Amino acid sequence: MPTYRRGGHVRDDDDGVERECELCDWHCVADSYPALVREYQTHLRTDHPKAWLRA
Ligand SMILES: [Zn+2]
Repeated sequence: MPTYRRGGHVRDDDDGVERECELCDWHCVADSYPALVREYQTHLRTDHPKAWLRA
C-alpha cells in the first residue's frame, strides 16, 4: 500500500505551468493550463491591446 501521501501535502511543484510574454518581461505561473491562458489573455488585453486584437 502506498504511503507517500501524508497529511495535507497532495500537490507538488511539478504541477505548475509557466508562460512568458513574447513582448515584455511579464511571466506567469499557474496551477493549470486554462488558468494560465486566462492570465496571459488578461495581460495581453491590458498591456498589449494591439497584440490582443490580432490574437
Ligand atoms: Zn507583455
